[in-house]
Amino acid sequence: MKTKHVFSAAAFGLGLVFAAPAPAARAASGEVREAVQARVAAEFASLEAIYKQLHANPELAFQEFETAALLAKELRALGIEVTEKVGNTGVVGVLKNGDGPTVLLRADMDGLPVKELVDLPWASKAVKKDLAGKEVPTMHACGHDLHVTGLIGAARTLVALKERWRGTIVFVGQPAEEIVSGARAMLTDGLYTRFPRPDFALGLHVFSHFPAGLVGYTEGPAYASSWAVDVVVRGVGGHGSAPHTTKDPVVLAAQIVLGLQTIVSREIQPGVPAVVTVGSIHGGTKRNIIGEEVKLELTLRGYEDKVMEHLVASIRRMCDGLGRAAGVPEDRLPVVVLQKEGANVTVNTPELTRKLAGTFREWFGAGRVEPVPPITGAEDFSEYGRTVHRVPAVIWTVGAGDPAAIAAAKQAGKSVPTNHSPDVRFLHDPTLQTCVISLAAAALELMPARGVER
Ligand SMILES: [Zn+2]
Ligand SMILES: [Zn+2]
Repeated sequence: MKTKHVFSAAAFGLGLVFAAPAPAARAASGEVREAVQARVAAEFASLEAIYKQLHANPELAFQEFETAALLAKELRALGIEVTEKVGNTGVVGVLKNGDGPTVLLRADMDGLPVKELVDLPWASKAVKKDLAGKEVPTMHACGHDLHVTGLIGAARTLVALKERWRGTIVFVGQPAEEIVSGARAMLTDGLYTRFPRPDFALGLHVFSHFPAGLVGYTEGPAYASSWAVDVVVRGVGGHGSAPHTTKDPVVLAAQIVLGLQTIVSREIQPGVPAVVTVGSIHGGTKRNIIGEEVKLELTLRGYEDKVMEHLVASIRRMCDGLGRAAGVPEDRLPVVVLQKEGANVTVNTPELTRKLAGTFREWFGAGRVEPVPPITGAEDFSEYGRTVHRVPAVIWTVGAGDPAAIAAAKQAGKSVPTNHSPDVRFLHDPTLQTCVISLAAAALELMPARGVER
């Protein structure tokens, strides 16, 4: 029977309230920690081989066919019930092990259209077709190969320790994180309805600028929202020598670009992070023609939904107002479109983050666990906590960079090549062990131990 224990979390005024099983009798004693460590050491050679295979064979978003097949095969070999092709190329493995909470463990699977420049025997030479059919060099430049291997290692460990815990684990191999679409695709395809809905959703991300061996955590907002907005500025075209007969969209677009700069500086409270960037502007065909339209592409970043909504509303207001001020006809006013491809802010549920940070200190030692600041990159892990169920969710950071290289770069006032760089280098040993142990430790923390009465 589930014991309900209610926490309340005020994350950005969402007033999250969730019910969770009482964690009083969790599974991880010192003896369990030793058993996990011994298992991970015994599995390392096999996991390393899987990692090298994945690293040499990266696949792009929604085309993770071989990666998904490998993950499915590995999970099935452990007796886990596996469903493939969830959200296109996603994999779901369900391990039911008695009465207890349901914990979702997520690994994203896709690589990037980057040509690997690192000199390693297992470096990628892969060239793959992207979704548009164009051939591009492909690399695991974001370390998702470590995530998948870590998930396999965690599955092996948790299955081997089945006698020690009770509950259900849902292993998720998620496609297309790099185009922030995979989590939504899996949820739309029934991740929370066709399979046991999690009480907790957990994941991790490796970073090359964070030393291997360390674990980092961020309470609250961890990754920014990244929304895409397109603006089509329309005018009334004509001859460049007779501007009085036209409504010039180039001048109007220039005013809009400058006007948008005041949203963050004049409307958002100082100290609240927000970005409005016009990354692309295209219009006109020839010097003596006043064209019909100019297209702007914007990216917006922030850490709060209400800030993001404010940015969009202000962009709409300014485009409309400046269009009217320019005397553009009503039916030619600028068109503002919020694209669906954006990612939402990833918020780590504060109570659960603090709990897991404590777990990691217990397992790794306080010296190996650090708070890390939020980053302006985006992650679609956010989606697992944003459904109507408001599942408490935490994604933590696993260090994957060579500590000596990081220290040397710092000394020289530089940075090591970061994730997404063709030169990025991940130290898979001991990063793989940290991935596996942190996933297993977090799951065990939330599971009651077998044979313990509550
Ligand atoms: Zn990435
Ligand atoms: Zn990534």
